[in-house]
Amino acid sequence: MDRPSLGPAGIVVDLAAVRANARLLRATAGVPLIAVVKADAYGHGMVACAGAAQEGGAAWLATATVEEALALRAAGVAGPVLCWLNGPASDFAAAAAAGIDLTAHSVADLDAMAAAFAGRTTPARVQLKVDTGLSRNGVPRAAWADVFARARAGEEAGTWRITGVWSHFACSDEPDHPANDRQEQAFRDALALAEEHGLRPELRHLASSAAAILRPSSRFDAVRCGIALYGLDPAPGEATDIGLLPAMTVTAPLLAVKDLVPGDAVSYGQHWVAEQTTTVGLVPVGYGEGIPRSASRPGAPDAAATVGIDGKRRPIRGTVCMDQVVVDLGGDRPPLGSEVVVFGPAGAGGPTAQDWAEACGTINYEIVTRIGGRMSRRYVDSEIDGVRG
Ligand SMILES: *Cc1c(COP(=O)(O)O)cnc(C)c1O
Repeated sequence: MDRPSLGPAGIVVDLAAVRANARLLRATAGVPLIAVVKADAYGHGMVACAGAAQEGGAAWLATATVEEALALRAAGVAGPVLCWLNGPASDFAAAAAAGIDLTAHSVADLDAMAAAFAGRTTPARVQLKVDTGLSRNGVPRAAWADVFARARAGEEAGTWRITGVWSHFACSDEPDHPANDRQEQAFRDALALAEEHGLRPELRHLASSAAAILRPSSRFDAVRCGIALYGLDPAPGEATDIGLLPAMTVTAPLLAVKDLVPGDAVSYGQHWVAEQTTTVGLVPVGYGEGIPRSASRPGAPDAAATVGIDGKRRPIRGTVCMDQVVVDLGGDRPPLGSEVVVFGPAGAGGPTAQDWAEACGTINYEIVTRIGGRMSRRYVDSEIDGVRG
């Protein structure tokens, strides 16, 4: 495969993949897409990915914090934006002035918002999150009636319009888990109670990526997709293959090659010892770049993560350092400066983020979101540049 050079070391994000994934999710779900761009778009770059998602047809953007939502606006991103994580310093007035939908999780939240909206002449936009079984944020069932009553009173006072009611699954990556049915039923109960209190939210939403793909009954008025937007599988092992394209490729140059003889030990703790003559390569990425130290564990060399060099998988040997890893080249001597594919789409010459997740005992979300540190990020657009050939 004829690939253009991806540069010295860093993260390459293909915005065409994000755009295509947005289109695919919109078509698969059959309802509007809320593109989740929190945590710097899971490490992919918030503003660029927000634009690509909108180009791909995302009707809404969503962030966790109020500050992230304001950062989108500050970067010139228009269109509907939802956020849901409120802190003591969250500027509700600025968010409302910027046309951002806030989320309230309690009567106290609504009271704080009402105070912040005091000088407004038009209703702010507020959504209500109900807890249906995650026990994270969201209004607990025992408080639904009080919150809905307070929310309706605020509508009648012209303080806000309740634009949405929503919730979040705990187990949607396990489609047969009984919690999914229970949560969806609880959500329907909450919607019915909201209606009894006179609320008419235009946007009722429950599903994130896994349920958007696997659970049609949970799609309601919109789906909130994060990981699938970036082309990664929200529920590995389940029937989620709708043709998503991983957007992120991480590469580094091969810095050095050296010979080892039997008995030579590698890296801190000398946990890996060569049993036969081999060559090893030095790759300048470590936990300072977000490479999990758990990618190579003492006594489990066969479980170590790999990288791709010359189209071959090269396992990490010994402990992951802050700045570097050592990989087994099995006697080969690739030229210095050879491109090391840390991870990327299947077919990019190395492992996938999912492969790394399995080696590290985590989920693909964590692999891409934590990657960064000293690495630069670059955007390409394969619809324009032809990166995918
Ligand atoms: C992160 C998040 C999402 C997106 O989840 P994915 O599994 O990445 O699609 C949706 N809703 C809420 C409340 C979230 O915190």
